[in-house]
Amino acid sequence: MKVRSPMEIYRHLPQTNCGECGEMTCMAFASLLKERKKKLEECPPLMSDEYAEQREKIAEMLAPEIREVEIGVGDKAVKIGGEEVLHRHELTFFNRTALFYDVWDTLDADSLRERVHKIESWKKFYVGEFLRLNGIAVRSVSNDPEKFEECVKKVADTTDLPLVLCSFDPKIVERGLKHVAERRPLIYAATERSWSAFLELSKMYEVPVALFSQSLDVLTSLAVTFANAGVEDIVLDPCTHPMGKGLADTFTKFVKIRRAGIADGRKEIAYPLLSVPLTAWFFFDDPVEASYWEAIVASIFIIKYADIMILHGLQPHSLIVERTLVETIYTDPRRPVSVEPGLRIIGNPDGNSPLFLTTNFALTYYTVESDISSNKIDSYLLVVDTDGLGVEAAVAGGQLNADKVKDALEQYVDSRIEHRTIVIPGLAARISGETEEKTGWKVLVGPKDSGRIPDWIDKNWPPEV
Ligand code: SF4
Repeated sequence: MKVRSPMEIYRHLPQTNCGECGEMTCMAFASLLKERKKKLEECPPLMSDEYAEQREKIAEMLAPEIREVEIGVGDKAVKIGGEEVLHRHELTFFNRTALFYDVWDTLDADSLRERVHKIESWKKFYVGEFLRLNGIAVRSVSNDPEKFEECVKKVADTTDLPLVLCSFDPKIVERGLKHVAERRPLIYAATERSWSAFLELSKMYEVPVALFSQSLDVLTSLAVTFANAGVEDIVLDPCTHPMGKGLADTFTKFVKIRRAGIADGRKEIAYPLLSVPLTAWFFFDDPVEASYWEAIVASIFIIKYADIMILHGLQPHSLIVERTLVETIYTDPRRPVSVEPGLRIIGNPDGNSPLFLTTNFALTYYTVESDISSNKIDSYLLVVDTDGLGVEAAVAGGQLNADKVKDALEQYVDSRIEHRTIVIPGLAARISGETEEKTGWKVLVGPKDSGRIPDWIDKNWPPEV
Protein backbone atom coordinates (compact mmCIF):
# COMPACT_ATOMS: atom_id res chain seq x y z
CA MET A 1 0.00 0.00 0.00
CA LYS A 2 1.53 3.27 -1.03
CA VAL A 3 -0.56 5.41 1.24
CA ARG A 4 0.63 6.78 4.56
CA SER A 5 -2.34 8.76 5.83
CA PRO A 6 -6.12 8.61 5.29
CA MET A 7 -5.92 12.17 3.94
CA GLU A 8 -4.22 10.87 0.80
CA ILE A 9 -7.27 8.66 0.14
CA TYR A 10 -9.76 11.31 1.22
CA ARG A 11 -8.55 13.65 -1.53
CA HIS A 12 -9.97 11.26 -4.13
CA LEU A 13 -13.29 10.52 -2.40
CA PRO A 14 -16.47 12.46 -3.32
CA GLN A 15 -16.16 14.45 -0.05
CA THR A 16 -19.92 14.92 0.31
CA ASN A 17 -20.24 13.19 3.71
CA CYS A 18 -23.49 11.64 2.43
CA GLY A 19 -23.28 8.72 4.88
CA GLU A 20 -24.29 6.03 2.34
CA CYS A 21 -21.23 3.99 3.34
CA GLY A 22 -22.47 3.84 6.93
CA GLU A 23 -19.87 6.35 8.12
CA MET A 24 -20.57 9.92 9.16
CA THR A 25 -17.82 11.40 7.02
CA CYS A 26 -15.69 10.61 4.00
CA MET A 27 -12.63 10.98 6.22
CA ALA A 28 -13.87 8.21 8.53
CA PHE A 29 -14.44 6.03 5.48
CA ALA A 30 -10.92 6.85 4.25
CA SER A 31 -9.44 5.71 7.58
CA LEU A 32 -11.34 2.43 7.40
CA LEU A 33 -10.25 1.87 3.79
CA LYS A 34 -6.66 2.28 4.87
CA GLU A 35 -7.19 -0.24 7.68
CA ARG A 36 -8.83 -2.66 5.17
CA LYS A 37 -12.02 -2.62 7.22
CA LYS A 38 -14.11 -1.21 4.35
CA LYS A 39 -14.09 -1.85 0.65
CA LEU A 40 -14.25 0.74 -2.15
CA GLU A 41 -17.60 -0.67 -3.32
CA GLU A 42 -19.17 0.42 -0.03
CA CYS A 43 -19.09 4.04 -1.24
CA PRO A 44 -21.94 4.03 -3.85
CA PRO A 45 -21.17 7.49 -5.30
CA LEU A 46 -17.59 6.37 -5.99
CA MET A 47 -18.92 3.50 -8.09
CA SER A 48 -20.51 5.87 -10.62
CA ASP A 49 -18.83 6.66 -13.97
CA GLU A 50 -18.26 10.20 -12.79
CA TYR A 51 -15.68 8.95 -10.28
CA ALA A 52 -14.06 6.24 -12.42
CA GLU A 53 -10.67 7.95 -12.45
CA GLN A 54 -10.65 8.59 -8.68
CA ARG A 55 -11.78 5.00 -8.04
CA GLU A 56 -8.89 3.65 -10.04
CA LYS A 57 -6.46 5.94 -8.27
CA ILE A 58 -7.63 4.82 -4.81
CA ALA A 59 -7.56 1.16 -5.84
CA GLU A 60 -3.98 1.61 -6.97
CA MET A 61 -3.06 3.36 -3.72
CA LEU A 62 -4.63 0.60 -1.64
CA ALA A 63 -3.11 -2.36 -3.52
CA PRO A 64 -1.01 -4.34 -1.02
CA GLU A 65 2.74 -4.61 -1.60
CA ILE A 66 2.50 -8.40 -1.88
CA ARG A 67 -0.21 -9.62 -4.20
CA GLU A 68 -3.16 -11.28 -2.48
CA VAL A 69 -4.14 -14.65 -3.96
CA GLU A 70 -7.28 -16.61 -3.12
CA ILE A 71 -7.37 -20.42 -3.08
CA GLY A 72 -10.71 -22.22 -2.89
CA VAL A 73 -14.21 -20.80 -3.00
CA GLY A 74 -16.96 -20.04 -0.51
CA ASP A 75 -16.62 -19.84 3.27
CA LYS A 76 -13.50 -21.97 3.43
CA ALA A 77 -11.53 -20.14 0.73
CA VAL A 78 -8.18 -18.83 1.98
CA LYS A 79 -6.48 -15.59 1.07
CA ILE A 80 -2.72 -15.61 1.13
CA GLY A 81 -0.17 -12.83 0.66
CA GLY A 82 -1.59 -9.31 0.69
CA GLU A 83 1.08 -8.19 3.17
CA GLU A 84 2.38 -4.67 3.56
CA VAL A 85 5.28 -4.88 5.99
CA LEU A 86 8.30 -6.98 6.84
CA HIS A 87 7.77 -6.80 10.58
CA ARG A 88 4.44 -7.27 12.29
CA HIS A 89 4.93 -4.35 14.68
CA GLU A 90 5.20 -1.90 11.73
CA LEU A 91 1.47 -2.40 11.04
CA THR A 92 0.11 -5.94 11.19
CA PHE A 93 0.20 -9.05 9.06
CA PHE A 94 -3.13 -9.58 7.35
CA ASN A 95 -3.48 -13.11 5.95
CA ARG A 96 -2.45 -16.03 8.13
CA THR A 97 -0.08 -18.66 6.75
CA ALA A 98 -2.41 -21.26 5.22
CA LEU A 99 -1.61 -24.81 6.33
CA PHE A 100 -2.33 -27.55 3.79
CA TYR A 101 -1.75 -31.20 4.81
CA ASP A 102 -1.08 -33.86 2.22
CA VAL A 103 -2.86 -36.93 0.97
CA TRP A 104 -1.46 -39.02 -1.89
CA ASP A 105 -2.70 -41.17 -4.71
CA THR A 106 -1.30 -44.50 -3.48
CA LEU A 107 -3.47 -44.44 -0.36
CA ASP A 108 -6.27 -47.01 -0.40
CA ALA A 109 -9.81 -45.63 -0.32
CA ASP A 110 -10.38 -46.14 3.42
CA SER A 111 -7.06 -44.63 4.45
CA LEU A 112 -7.65 -41.69 2.12
CA ARG A 113 -11.10 -41.00 3.57
CA GLU A 114 -9.79 -41.35 7.10
CA ARG A 115 -6.89 -38.96 6.49
CA VAL A 116 -9.11 -36.35 4.83
CA HIS A 117 -11.49 -36.62 7.76
CA LYS A 118 -8.61 -36.19 10.21
CA ILE A 119 -7.42 -33.03 8.46
CA GLU A 120 -10.91 -31.61 8.16
CA SER A 121 -12.02 -32.35 11.71
CA TRP A 122 -8.89 -31.28 13.61
CA LYS A 123 -9.54 -28.29 15.82
CA LYS A 124 -8.12 -26.67 18.90
CA PHE A 125 -9.83 -24.18 21.18
CA TYR A 126 -7.64 -21.08 21.53
CA VAL A 127 -8.60 -17.70 23.00
CA GLY A 128 -12.28 -18.03 22.27
CA GLU A 129 -12.27 -19.73 18.91
CA PHE A 130 -11.49 -23.03 17.28
CA LEU A 131 -8.30 -23.11 15.24
CA ARG A 132 -8.55 -25.36 12.19
CA LEU A 133 -6.41 -26.49 9.28
CA ASN A 134 -6.88 -24.75 5.95
CA GLY A 135 -6.76 -27.31 3.19
CA ILE A 136 -5.57 -30.47 1.55
CA ALA A 137 -2.64 -30.95 -0.80
CA VAL A 138 -3.25 -33.91 -3.12
CA ARG A 139 0.11 -35.36 -4.22
CA SER A 140 0.84 -37.56 -7.18
CA VAL A 141 3.20 -40.18 -5.78
CA SER A 142 2.41 -42.91 -8.29
CA ASN A 143 3.09 -40.69 -11.33
CA ASP A 144 0.06 -42.39 -12.79
CA PRO A 145 -2.42 -39.81 -14.21
CA GLU A 146 -5.35 -42.18 -13.72
CA LYS A 147 -4.58 -42.78 -10.05
CA PHE A 148 -4.15 -39.06 -9.44
CA GLU A 149 -7.45 -38.30 -11.14
CA GLU A 150 -9.26 -40.88 -9.01
CA CYS A 151 -7.64 -39.58 -5.87
CA VAL A 152 -8.61 -35.96 -6.59
CA LYS A 153 -12.19 -37.03 -7.32
CA LYS A 154 -12.44 -38.96 -4.06
CA VAL A 155 -10.99 -36.09 -2.04
CA ALA A 156 -13.34 -33.61 -3.69
CA ASP A 157 -16.31 -35.88 -2.92
CA THR A 158 -15.25 -36.09 0.73
CA THR A 159 -14.45 -32.49 1.63
CA ASP A 160 -15.05 -28.90 0.57
CA LEU A 161 -11.71 -27.71 1.95
CA PRO A 162 -9.53 -25.80 -0.53
CA LEU A 163 -7.09 -27.96 -2.51
CA VAL A 164 -3.57 -27.87 -3.87
CA LEU A 165 -2.94 -30.29 -6.75
CA CYS A 166 0.68 -31.41 -6.65
CA SER A 167 2.76 -32.81 -9.47
CA PHE A 168 5.57 -31.42 -11.59
CA ASP A 169 3.91 -33.06 -14.58
CA PRO A 170 1.23 -30.76 -16.05
CA LYS A 171 -0.54 -33.68 -17.69
CA ILE A 172 -1.06 -35.34 -14.34
CA VAL A 173 -2.23 -32.11 -12.75
CA GLU A 174 -4.76 -31.54 -15.50
CA ARG A 175 -6.33 -34.96 -14.97
CA GLY A 176 -7.32 -33.87 -11.47
CA LEU A 177 -7.85 -30.22 -12.27
CA LYS A 178 -10.60 -30.76 -14.80
CA HIS A 179 -12.80 -32.21 -12.03
CA VAL A 180 -12.22 -29.46 -9.47
CA ALA A 181 -11.35 -26.33 -11.45
CA GLU A 182 -14.50 -24.53 -10.26
CA ARG A 183 -13.19 -24.95 -6.70
CA ARG A 184 -10.19 -22.81 -7.61
CA PRO A 185 -7.36 -25.08 -6.41
CA LEU A 186 -3.72 -24.02 -6.50
CA ILE A 187 -1.82 -26.01 -9.11
CA TYR A 188 1.69 -26.95 -8.00
CA ALA A 189 4.15 -26.46 -9.62
CA ALA A 190 5.46 -24.95 -12.83
CA THR A 191 9.20 -25.36 -13.34
CA GLU A 192 11.74 -24.12 -15.83
CA ARG A 193 10.87 -27.11 -18.03
CA SER A 194 7.11 -27.28 -17.66
CA TRP A 195 6.13 -23.62 -17.33
CA SER A 196 4.37 -23.16 -20.66
CA ALA A 197 1.97 -26.08 -20.06
CA PHE A 198 1.23 -24.80 -16.54
CA LEU A 199 0.68 -21.30 -17.93
CA GLU A 200 -1.90 -22.72 -20.32
CA LEU A 201 -3.61 -24.67 -17.51
CA SER A 202 -3.74 -21.63 -15.30
CA LYS A 203 -5.28 -19.51 -18.07
CA MET A 204 -7.67 -22.14 -19.33
CA TYR A 205 -9.03 -23.12 -15.92
CA GLU A 206 -8.55 -19.72 -14.29
CA VAL A 207 -6.74 -21.08 -11.25
CA PRO A 208 -3.74 -19.83 -9.27
CA VAL A 209 -0.40 -21.45 -9.99
CA ALA A 210 2.76 -22.11 -7.97
CA LEU A 211 6.14 -21.53 -9.62
CA PHE A 212 9.08 -23.61 -8.42
CA SER A 213 12.80 -23.07 -8.75
CA GLN A 214 15.82 -23.21 -6.47
CA SER A 215 17.29 -20.29 -8.41
CA LEU A 216 15.93 -16.86 -7.59
CA ASP A 217 16.81 -15.64 -11.08
CA VAL A 218 14.78 -18.43 -12.67
CA LEU A 219 11.91 -17.89 -10.24
CA THR A 220 11.86 -14.18 -11.08
CA SER A 221 11.99 -14.85 -14.78
CA LEU A 222 9.10 -17.35 -14.50
CA ALA A 223 7.05 -14.82 -12.53
CA VAL A 224 7.68 -12.10 -15.13
CA THR A 225 6.72 -14.48 -17.94
CA PHE A 226 3.45 -15.45 -16.24
CA ALA A 227 2.58 -11.84 -15.38
CA ASN A 228 3.28 -10.70 -18.96
CA ALA A 229 0.96 -13.46 -20.17
CA GLY A 230 -1.80 -12.13 -17.90
CA VAL A 231 -1.48 -14.68 -15.06
CA GLU A 232 -0.86 -12.86 -11.82
CA ASP A 233 -2.35 -15.24 -9.28
CA ILE A 234 1.09 -16.62 -8.67
CA VAL A 235 2.70 -18.27 -5.66
CA LEU A 236 6.49 -18.66 -5.44
CA ASP A 237 8.26 -21.76 -4.10
CA PRO A 238 12.03 -21.28 -3.85
CA CYS A 239 12.40 -24.91 -2.64
CA THR A 240 12.45 -25.88 1.04
CA HIS A 241 15.53 -27.75 2.26
CA PRO A 242 14.80 -29.00 5.75
CA MET A 243 18.36 -29.58 7.01
CA GLY A 244 21.78 -28.02 7.47
CA LYS A 245 23.14 -25.44 5.05
CA GLY A 246 20.22 -26.07 2.69
CA LEU A 247 17.85 -24.89 5.41
CA ALA A 248 19.94 -21.77 6.03
CA ASP A 249 19.97 -21.02 2.28
CA THR A 250 16.22 -21.52 2.05
CA PHE A 251 15.70 -19.09 4.90
CA THR A 252 17.91 -16.52 3.15
CA LYS A 253 15.91 -16.90 -0.05
CA PHE A 254 12.57 -16.37 1.69
CA VAL A 255 13.86 -13.23 3.37
CA LYS A 256 15.44 -11.93 0.14
CA ILE A 257 12.26 -12.39 -1.89
CA ARG A 258 10.03 -10.75 0.70
CA ARG A 259 12.47 -7.86 1.22
CA ALA A 260 12.67 -7.34 -2.53
CA GLY A 261 8.86 -7.26 -2.76
CA ILE A 262 8.25 -4.92 0.16
CA ALA A 263 11.39 -2.91 0.94
CA ASP A 264 12.72 -2.60 -2.62
CA GLY A 265 9.33 -2.36 -4.32
CA ARG A 266 10.23 -5.04 -6.89
CA LYS A 267 6.74 -5.82 -8.14
CA GLU A 268 7.97 -8.66 -10.35
CA ILE A 269 8.48 -10.92 -7.33
CA ALA A 270 5.97 -9.41 -4.91
CA TYR A 271 3.93 -12.62 -4.68
CA PRO A 272 2.96 -14.98 -1.85
CA LEU A 273 5.59 -17.55 -0.82
CA LEU A 274 5.10 -21.28 -0.47
CA SER A 275 7.14 -23.52 1.82
CA VAL A 276 7.13 -27.33 1.95
CA PRO A 277 8.18 -28.48 5.44
CA LEU A 278 6.94 -31.92 4.35
CA THR A 279 10.42 -32.40 2.82
CA ALA A 280 11.61 -33.30 6.35
CA TRP A 281 9.87 -36.65 5.83
CA PHE A 282 12.21 -37.44 2.92
CA PHE A 283 15.21 -37.20 5.27
CA PHE A 284 14.12 -39.28 8.25
CA ASP A 285 12.72 -42.80 8.49
CA ASP A 286 11.72 -42.35 12.10
CA PRO A 287 8.31 -40.63 12.13
CA VAL A 288 8.97 -38.99 15.50
CA GLU A 289 12.17 -37.41 14.22
CA ALA A 290 10.55 -36.43 10.92
CA SER A 291 7.57 -34.77 12.57
CA TYR A 292 9.89 -32.98 14.98
CA TRP A 293 11.95 -31.51 12.14
CA GLU A 294 8.90 -30.74 10.07
CA ALA A 295 7.47 -28.70 12.96
CA ILE A 296 10.78 -26.85 13.33
CA VAL A 297 10.98 -26.03 9.62
CA ALA A 298 7.33 -24.98 9.63
CA SER A 299 7.94 -22.70 12.62
CA ILE A 300 10.86 -20.99 10.90
CA PHE A 301 8.85 -20.24 7.78
CA ILE A 302 5.63 -19.29 9.57
CA ILE A 303 7.72 -16.52 11.10
CA LYS A 304 9.54 -15.59 7.85
CA TYR A 305 7.65 -15.44 5.42
CA ALA A 306 5.65 -18.38 4.11
CA ASP A 307 2.09 -17.50 3.11
CA ILE A 308 1.13 -21.12 2.47
CA MET A 309 2.68 -24.45 3.47
CA ILE A 310 2.42 -28.07 2.49
CA LEU A 311 2.88 -30.40 5.45
CA HIS A 312 2.51 -34.07 6.27
CA GLY A 313 2.57 -34.86 9.99
CA LEU A 314 -0.78 -34.99 11.76
CA GLN A 315 0.64 -35.80 15.19
CA PRO A 316 -0.96 -33.58 17.83
CA HIS A 317 2.40 -32.22 19.01
CA SER A 318 3.18 -30.87 15.50
CA LEU A 319 -0.30 -29.57 14.72
CA ILE A 320 -0.57 -27.64 17.97
CA VAL A 321 2.81 -25.96 17.46
CA GLU A 322 2.20 -25.11 13.82
CA ARG A 323 -1.35 -23.83 14.13
CA THR A 324 -0.86 -21.96 17.41
CA LEU A 325 2.25 -20.24 16.08
CA VAL A 326 0.34 -19.02 13.02
CA GLU A 327 -2.29 -17.55 15.30
CA THR A 328 0.28 -15.85 17.50
CA ILE A 329 2.28 -14.29 14.67
CA TYR A 330 -0.80 -13.11 12.82
CA THR A 331 -2.63 -11.53 15.75
CA ASP A 332 -2.99 -7.81 15.14
CA PRO A 333 -0.51 -6.13 17.53
CA ARG A 334 -2.53 -2.91 17.43
CA ARG A 335 -5.48 -4.44 19.22
CA PRO A 336 -5.57 -6.51 22.40
CA VAL A 337 -7.48 -9.72 21.90
CA SER A 338 -10.81 -9.02 23.56
CA VAL A 339 -14.26 -10.49 24.16
CA GLU A 340 -17.64 -8.78 24.33
CA PRO A 341 -18.48 -7.26 27.71
CA GLY A 342 -21.66 -8.48 29.42
CA LEU A 343 -23.02 -10.98 31.92
CA ARG A 344 -22.10 -14.65 31.40
CA ILE A 345 -24.03 -17.47 33.01
CA ILE A 346 -21.87 -20.36 34.18
CA GLY A 347 -23.63 -23.64 34.99
CA ASN A 348 -27.08 -23.29 36.57
CA PRO A 349 -26.90 -20.36 38.95
CA ASP A 350 -29.85 -19.19 41.05
CA GLY A 351 -30.56 -15.82 42.65
CA ASN A 352 -28.03 -16.41 45.44
CA SER A 353 -25.11 -17.68 43.35
CA PRO A 354 -21.88 -15.70 43.35
CA LEU A 355 -21.25 -12.87 40.91
CA PHE A 356 -17.61 -12.63 39.79
CA LEU A 357 -16.08 -9.74 37.88
CA THR A 358 -13.37 -9.86 35.25
CA THR A 359 -12.09 -7.79 32.31
CA ASN A 360 -12.67 -8.31 28.60
CA PHE A 361 -9.04 -9.18 27.78
CA ALA A 362 -9.60 -12.52 26.05
CA LEU A 363 -6.82 -14.42 27.80
CA THR A 364 -7.99 -13.24 31.22
CA TYR A 365 -11.62 -13.93 30.43
CA TYR A 366 -11.10 -17.47 29.15
CA THR A 367 -8.79 -18.35 32.06
CA VAL A 368 -11.30 -17.14 34.65
CA GLU A 369 -14.27 -18.67 32.81
CA SER A 370 -12.48 -21.99 32.53
CA ASP A 371 -11.36 -22.00 36.19
CA ILE A 372 -14.94 -21.40 37.29
CA SER A 373 -16.75 -23.70 34.86
CA SER A 374 -14.30 -26.61 35.12
CA ASN A 375 -14.80 -26.53 38.89
CA LYS A 376 -18.56 -26.55 38.37
CA ILE A 377 -19.22 -23.37 40.32
CA ASP A 378 -22.71 -22.25 39.31
CA SER A 379 -22.32 -18.50 39.09
CA TYR A 380 -22.44 -15.27 37.10
CA LEU A 381 -19.43 -13.60 35.50
CA LEU A 382 -19.61 -9.88 34.82
CA VAL A 383 -17.23 -8.94 32.00
CA VAL A 384 -16.27 -5.27 32.09
CA ASP A 385 -15.10 -3.46 28.97
CA THR A 386 -11.50 -2.48 29.76
CA ASP A 387 -10.48 -1.92 26.13
CA GLY A 388 -9.14 -5.45 26.08
CA LEU A 389 -6.68 -4.96 28.95
CA GLY A 390 -6.01 -7.48 31.73
CA VAL A 391 -6.89 -6.69 35.35
CA GLU A 392 -3.59 -5.27 36.59
CA ALA A 393 -2.97 -3.05 33.54
CA ALA A 394 -6.61 -1.89 33.47
CA VAL A 395 -6.55 -0.87 37.13
CA ALA A 396 -3.23 0.97 36.61
CA GLY A 397 -4.46 2.69 33.44
CA GLY A 398 -7.93 3.58 34.73
CA GLN A 399 -9.81 1.27 32.35
CA LEU A 400 -11.08 -0.66 35.37
CA ASN A 401 -12.38 1.66 38.08
CA ALA A 402 -15.44 2.13 40.27
CA ASP A 403 -17.36 4.01 37.56
CA LYS A 404 -16.73 1.26 35.03
CA VAL A 405 -17.98 -1.37 37.50
CA LYS A 406 -21.05 0.75 38.28
CA ASP A 407 -21.85 1.13 34.55
CA ALA A 408 -21.44 -2.60 33.97
CA LEU A 409 -23.67 -3.49 36.94
CA GLU A 410 -26.38 -1.12 35.74
CA GLN A 411 -26.14 -2.26 32.15
CA TYR A 412 -25.90 -6.03 32.51
CA VAL A 413 -27.08 -7.21 35.94
CA ASP A 414 -30.80 -7.81 36.36
CA SER A 415 -33.29 -9.32 38.81
CA ARG A 416 -31.92 -12.84 38.29
CA ILE A 417 -29.31 -11.90 40.90
CA GLU A 418 -31.10 -11.39 44.22
CA HIS A 419 -28.11 -10.39 46.37
CA ARG A 420 -25.90 -7.30 46.16
CA THR A 421 -22.41 -8.78 46.54
CA ILE A 422 -19.77 -8.82 43.84
CA VAL A 423 -16.42 -10.63 43.88
CA ILE A 424 -13.65 -8.63 42.23
CA PRO A 425 -10.21 -10.04 41.30
CA GLY A 426 -7.47 -9.80 43.94
CA LEU A 427 -5.42 -7.69 41.51
CA ALA A 428 -8.18 -5.06 41.61
CA ALA A 429 -8.25 -4.86 45.42
CA ARG A 430 -7.41 -1.15 45.42
CA ILE A 431 -10.72 -0.18 43.77
CA SER A 432 -12.83 -2.14 46.28
CA GLY A 433 -13.61 0.73 48.67
CA GLU A 434 -14.52 3.26 46.00
CA THR A 435 -16.57 0.63 44.18
CA GLU A 436 -18.61 -0.06 47.33
CA GLU A 437 -19.24 3.67 47.74
CA LYS A 438 -20.23 4.31 44.12
CA THR A 439 -22.30 1.19 43.50
CA GLY A 440 -23.83 0.48 46.90
CA TRP A 441 -22.81 -3.16 46.38
CA LYS A 442 -20.82 -5.14 48.92
CA VAL A 443 -17.42 -5.87 47.34
CA LEU A 444 -15.46 -9.00 48.22
CA VAL A 445 -11.85 -9.22 47.07
CA GLY A 446 -11.26 -12.61 45.52
CA PRO A 447 -7.92 -14.35 44.89
CA LYS A 448 -5.26 -12.85 42.60
CA ASP A 449 -5.11 -16.11 40.68
CA SER A 450 -8.45 -17.40 39.39
CA GLY A 451 -7.14 -20.95 39.82
CA ARG A 452 -7.70 -20.41 43.55
CA ILE A 453 -11.36 -19.46 43.17
CA PRO A 454 -12.65 -22.96 44.19
CA ASP A 455 -10.83 -22.79 47.57
CA TRP A 456 -11.78 -19.17 48.02
CA ILE A 457 -15.46 -19.77 47.33
CA ASP A 458 -15.59 -22.66 49.83
CA LYS A 459 -14.42 -20.31 52.56
CA ASN A 460 -16.19 -17.08 51.56
CA TRP A 461 -19.54 -17.91 49.97
CA PRO A 462 -22.26 -17.29 50.95
CA PRO A 463 -20.92 -14.07 52.46
CA GLU A 464 -21.61 -13.08 56.06
CA VAL A 465 -24.54 -10.72 56.31
S1 SF4 B 1 -20.58 7.01 0.82
FE1 SF4 B 1 -18.74 7.85 -0.07
S2 SF4 B 1 -19.24 9.98 -0.40
FE2 SF4 B 1 -20.73 9.22 1.03
S3 SF4 B 1 -19.82 9.61 3.09
FE3 SF4 B 1 -19.21 7.59 2.50
S4 SF4 B 1 -17.24 7.90 1.56
FE4 SF4 B 1 -18.21 9.87 1.56
